[in-house]
Amino acid sequence: MTETDALHSGTSGQRVVVVGAGECGTRAAMALRERGFDGSITLIGREEVHAYERPPLSKASLAADDADLVHPWTPEQLAEAGVSLRLGADVTGIDRSAQTVRTSDGPLPYDRLLLAMGARPRRLDLEHVLYLRTHEDATALRALVRPGGRMLVIGAGFIGLEIAAAARERGMEVVVVESADRALSRMVPAVIAERVVALHHEHGVPIRTGTTVAAVHREGDRLRAALSDGEELVVDAVVAGVGAAPSTEIASDAGLLVEDGIVVDEQLRTSDPRIWAAGDCATFPDARSGRRVRVESWRNAHDQALTVAASMTGGEEPHVAVPWFWSDQYDQMLQTAGLPGPGEHEVVRVREDGSLLHFGLDAAGRLVDATSLGRGPVVAKDIRVAERLIGAGARPDPAGLADPGVPLRSLLA
Ligand SMILES: Cc1cc2nc3c(=O)[nH]c(=O)nc-3n(C[C@H](O)[C@H](O)[C@H](O)COP(=O)(O)OP(=O)(O)OC[C@H]3O[C@@H](n4cnc5c(N)ncnc54)[C@H](O)[C@@H]3O)c2cc1C
Repeated sequence: MTETDALHSGTSGQRVVVVGAGECGTRAAMALRERGFDGSITLIGREEVHAYERPPLSKASLAADDADLVHPWTPEQLAEAGVSLRLGADVTGIDRSAQTVRTSDGPLPYDRLLLAMGARPRRLDLEHVLYLRTHEDATALRALVRPGGRMLVIGAGFIGLEIAAAARERGMEVVVVESADRALSRMVPAVIAERVVALHHEHGVPIRTGTTVAAVHREGDRLRAALSDGEELVVDAVVAGVGAAPSTEIASDAGLLVEDGIVVDEQLRTSDPRIWAAGDCATFPDARSGRRVRVESWRNAHDQALTVAASMTGGEEPHVAVPWFWSDQYDQMLQTAGLPGPGEHEVVRVREDGSLLHFGLDAAGRLVDATSLGRGPVVAKDIRVAERLIGAGARPDPAGLADPGVPLRSLLA
């Protein structure tokens, strides 16, 4: 029997340790039980708060009160499923030969280990700047949001723009600065990004591209920010959303392969057959493009939790879910399915209400990504169909994609 066979022959008495009690780690722990894993499961998380969803932190509610937090499972549900939860505990290292993790409460043995440690905000070399990743961060931010106040947001990515919209809707004056030459440059096609920028302008929020912040100083109970164009702004809060870095230190210290994230194969196994990684901290081979990617999205964390639970219990199914992401800005929703690739052919459909649906096709004519901004139900319906087209490797007629009179569904055939 090989080491991998032995690992998968019966689960009784096997010990699973999951590092990171966020979306992915918690979902995976529950999925292991749903798949009949009957060994022990210990879920370890650094945060004191029981697993909650992060997306509401930057949306309209700027979820900061405990009542605003959305918990996918209660601690009682985890206990009922026999998942032993250790919150406020840090895993500081992995001893692969002894098969133990080092925790702030002492060593813990494992037979199978899942690393689901997420990511953390990239930081700027500036003082007095807030970042948003955790409930604790949201509490600090919300304390500074008040009608009539003024906020400077650094970074016109999803998180920065969502915070800008939420603060504006709570009566703040908001200015966004972005070092790149356009907003949402990483994931969103230019035509859609322009619409998002216009939406912010309509709400009185300027987005100043090609602009950075040189320094932030305290001035009484306010802050003075010096911009790269020479202007100085006096504000109540400076918040940065300038990307996130995967949490990989304990993996690289233990000698696992790490690039932009912990390197895993299509079943989310690391370079050690007893260790898996998933969610924001992992880089995996995308099933369609073959490119190695790291996807920071709620759905990816959820879908990979299911794949990894299958893989940890002997399943061989590769991770094939189509990446999907959404963002809320004022009364509009943005959704994207698939992964934009280099050199793609772009097709734009203009709906009757003037909103846009953007498609990206690869050199072989396959639909690889779709993005839309508009009213939630319309966007959701179209992106759901686009997701199916992408998943099926469809080569839809570009003229049909562009024509709002052609139901997207008909292109599935
Ligand atoms: C403000 C905000 C808004 C978002 N909005 C959207 C959205 O609208 N749509 C969308 O699709 N996605 C959104 N996302 C992204 C989405 O929330 C993440 O992709 C998802 O949470 C990733 O889940 P994860 O379990 O991989 O990581 P996390 O949720 O980050 O969980 C990882 C956990 O591991 C813990 N941990 C790390 N290292 C250790 C250690 N050594 N020991 C113990 N514990 C450790 C961390 O403290 C953390 O609690 C948003 C994210 C943020 C921050």
